[in-house]
Amino acid sequence: MAEATPNTSVKERTLIALAAVIPDLDGIGIVVDGVTKLTSDEPTELFVTYHHDLHTLAFALVCSGLALLALGKGPTLARRLLIGALVALSFHLHLLCDIAGSRGPDGHQWPIPYLKPFDAEFGIMWSGQWVLNAWPNLVLTVVLLVGTLVLAVRRGYSPLGIVSAKADQAVVRTLRTRFAAHRFEEKAPPNEAALGVANEVARAAELPADAAIDNDA
Ligand SMILES: [Zn+2]
Repeated sequence: MAEATPNTSVKERTLIALAAVIPDLDGIGIVVDGVTKLTSDEPTELFVTYHHDLHTLAFALVCSGLALLALGKGPTLARRLLIGALVALSFHLHLLCDIAGSRGPDGHQWPIPYLKPFDAEFGIMWSGQWVLNAWPNLVLTVVLLVGTLVLAVRRGYSPLGIVSAKADQAVVRTLRTRFAAHRFEEKAPPNEAALGVANEVARAAELPADAAIDNDA
């Protein structure tokens, strides 16, 4: 989604990519649950209680609004609206993937409370939903990873750039050398020997002219 429009800045790509994972912020309680399970007789159940509570239209709008603020007044209004829309789309792609393929291993289905907190009863579910570790998710993971690598080779940057520009350039250089050296060969600096030959050639090219002047004299 962050590659949907050309010439995105790192900041824009970061915002769009973040929107694709931020709904799962409501599942972060799983960490506390894990710790209390080991340390307490009454472990918390934050994950079961709150997971999917941020998978809502309201939170999508909040995220788009925050993205517009984060972009600042630098980009044009049209550009900010485009990125805000891509943030919302990216967020909804997450919801779509959850609806399609995130059934629990025990067969349990989570309804997406899309209209919460305005309508807590409304939930989106799909009877054909496959389990989290089913083959379509594995195939999608592989295809999308390959797609990411192909784009990194072609465009010269990867999602790693969100974390470190230096590491990103190292990865892109390695990928280009390994898979597309013929397209991205770096020009080697001219060495002494090559320069010497070039000078000889240049001198040889001038000789007939000099000789002609001598002959005239
Ligand atoms: Zn989710």
